[in-house]
This record gives sequence, structure tokens and C-alpha cells, in this order.
Amino acid sequence: MNKVYIYKIDNYESLDPLVSGYFENIKSRFEKQKTILLKPNLLQASPPERAITTDPAFVRSVISALRKLGNFNIILGDSPGANMNYKKVLEKTGIDKVCEELGVEIIRFESFKPQQRNGFIYTGIVDEVDVIINMPKLKTHSLTGLTLGVKNLFGLIPGSNKVSFHRNYPNNSDLGGKILEFYSLFHEKVITLLDGVIAHEGDGPSRGNSTYLGLVAFSEDTIGLDMAVTKALGLDVSFCKTNPVKYSYEVATENITFKNIKLPISMRVKVPDYVKKWVSDRIYVKPFIVGKKCIKCGFCKNSCPADAIEYSESGYRVIDTKCIECFCCHEVCESDAIYLRRSIMHRMFVK
Ligand code: SF4
Ligand code: SF4
Repeated sequence: MNKVYIYKIDNYESLDPLVSGYFENIKSRFEKQKTILLKPNLLQASPPERAITTDPAFVRSVISALRKLGNFNIILGDSPGANMNYKKVLEKTGIDKVCEELGVEIIRFESFKPQQRNGFIYTGIVDEVDVIINMPKLKTHSLTGLTLGVKNLFGLIPGSNKVSFHRNYPNNSDLGGKILEFYSLFHEKVITLLDGVIAHEGDGPSRGNSTYLGLVAFSEDTIGLDMAVTKALGLDVSFCKTNPVKYSYEVATENITFKNIKLPISMRVKVPDYVKKWVSDRIYVKPFIVGKKCIKCGFCKNSCPADAIEYSESGYRVIDTKCIECFCCHEVCESDAIYLRRSIMHRMFVK
């Protein structure tokens, strides 16, 4: 059984020996592995002190430890959904600087042809890499209670297609179950290192506040890690909706207690599922092809996994009802002819 390691540290400066020691422990896992994908949480363009995204100091520590372990091709990527300015996200979060200094290539998930498995669409880069180093930020989450390791991998779904799951599964436990199902597709490739040194509490994942917790956790068993961390925070394991009801895991480190974190208001007030569904149905981003700029190359149509782009004499057009909001068309269009249209509610609720 893969073990879970949980530590309490004062600050990011104390992290290096723990990460190096952990990788040293599991180094057989890296034998014959060539390409490693780093998946931090890059939800939006916000500075590290807001604790919405994985701290650049945490990312730096992980990359440095991997460099000591072997000569891997390390790439880093994410898909910040609604916030389409990836460059700004990378700049503001401090991730671009770390990657530049340590020679790590940054990719965007929408740039790879999406693949489909068990009804899920995910970025094709997942099938090309040998290992995924999952680096979630410890945060509260208004829908899933907490967002930890399993939830962070939901980011492998390109674009805003993730949002459609919120629409289709308004019940938080059903949504959590679906996210867990998605994680299970790739679990063998995943090693999780959780950044909870500075965590996000209250109305997470982005409208709460940062708080010092000092918690870091590592494991090849992401489900076990999430369950152990939920418990270490003094919460019932069912509080985190991506945790399964029954699951065996082993914590290798001593029992550490952490302070209580503020929980999201949604977890304290019961909102009926039909209200949630009504709201989430109205939060969307759809691509719109600007005819004047379009050179009719057809790249967008060829890259669309949902067959949602049609061609007629008047040009290319997106069929909104078929579009799954993966934004692959937007990524491949070299003529800047695809505009992303946000619904009114999207503009109201999503930063
Ligand atoms: S990729 Fe861009 S330019 Fe090419 S057909 Fe699509 S919208 Fe037009
Ligand atoms: S039109 Fe196709 S490629 Fe573009 S966002 Fe919608 S589903 Fe994705």
C-alpha cells in the first residue's frame, strides 16, 4: 500500500529537504521515466500571497528535487478555464519566473488534441507523459468542500468543459464522485505533493482568504492523501466530496494536528439542487467566430472534439448546443478570429 506523508513546516524555505527525501524514498518509481508533467493549480491570475494557486516556492522545490534525481524532460501545464490570458496567469502567479530559471517548458493543455476515455474528454498530453506530478493548493471549495489532490487533476480537462460537470451534477456528492471517477483513469501515473503551507479558507476556491497552515503532504496514493489531510484538518472525511465512502490508506508520519480552517458559506447553508442547476446552466463561455478575420483554414473545425463547428457558404460557425467549451478551436486559430463570449452570469460570478 502506498503511504501518505504529512508534515508541518514553518515556511517554504524548510521544504527542500522534505521533497528531496520523499523523491529519494520512491526513486525506483522514476526508473526508465523520461517525461514528467507538472500540474500545479493555476486557477487564475492572482499573486501567490492570495493562496489561490500553487506557490512558486513550492514548484521551485519540486523541480529542484527532480533535477537532482535524474535527467528528465520536465514540462509544466494547466488550463485556467475562464481566464483565457494564460500569459498573465503565469506572470502573476510567479510560475513563469521559476520555470524560466530552472529550464522547464510551459505548455497549455488546449494546445494538445483532446482524447476521450469513459465519456471524459482530456488533454492529449496526459497520454504522452510517463509521470504526472500533481501539485494542488490546499483550499476550501464551495461545491466540493475542499479541493485537494483528486480535484486538482480535474484541470486535465481542457477549457471550460469542466464547468459542464457542475451543470450536469448540481448535487455536490455526485459531482465529487464524477471527479473521482476521472482521477481513476490516470491514477497510476500520478504522484501528489500538496501545498498547504499557506492555504485558502472561507469561500474557496478563490473568494476566501489566505491562512498559514504549514501543511504539506506527499503520496503516490492521491485518494489516501486527500482523506488523511481532510482528517488532519479535523473534518469528517465526507466533508471533501471527492473522497470515497470507503477506502484503506496508510499514513506513515506521526499524528499532527492543524488549526481549524474557515469553511465555505455554501457548506453551512443548504441551497436546493434545482437552484444550483439554474445558476450553473447560465454560467458559460462559448467561442464565436469573427467572419471578417477568419481565413477559412479549417483548423478549428478539425480540432473540435465535439463536431460543433460547421461550414457553410457564409463561413465557419460554432453550434452552441454542441460545444463543450474545451477552447481547442481558440487555441489553434492563428488568425485571432475566435472570440470567447462570456455569459452575463459568468461575468458576474467568475473573476
Ligand atoms: S481556425 Fe480561425 S481562421 Fe481558421 S477557419 Fe477557424 S476561425 Fe477561421
Ligand atoms: S467549438 Fe469545438 S473546439 Fe471550440 S470550444 Fe466548442 S467544442 Fe471546443
